[in-house]
Amino acid sequence: MPPPPLPEVPSDCLLCGTCCFSDLPEYVRVFGVDHDRMDDDARALTTFLGNRCFMRIEDGHCAALVPDPQTRRFVCSIYPMRPDACRSLDRGTSACLGELSLKRERPLLALEAIVRKNR
Ligand code: SF4
Ligand code: SF4
Repeated sequence: MPPPPLPEVPSDCLLCGTCCFSDLPEYVRVFGVDHDRMDDDARALTTFLGNRCFMRIEDGHCAALVPDPQTRRFVCSIYPMRPDACRSLDRGTSACLGELSLKRERPLLALEAIVRKNR
């Protein structure tokens, strides 16, 4: 059987946001070097589990992600201060394709949920 086709890679990460979605509390690790780069507002979006730091997960995505149903864009509110784990995930790489294969529908469902909540 041929392998399933690769997912289409969006033209812009702002139109996607898929890799910022997860339900796992340990999804985005924040190391000391990441923490040092952050200002107080960014640090407020992190959480310690034991002695390890992570980006907080809220509503099924990283707490720093701001989904905008009007523009249908997904903005990282701490982009210049984002952790190294996020910097290493480039659009179009195999990691990106893996994220898209697993979770591509989640951003769209999140936008729909926000619209429903605001009605
Ligand atoms: S890196 Fe890939 S999965 Fe992540 S936002 Fe960009 S296009 Fe989407
Ligand atoms: S810090 Fe920014 S780029 Fe990293 S997962 Fe959170 S929203 Fe996405």
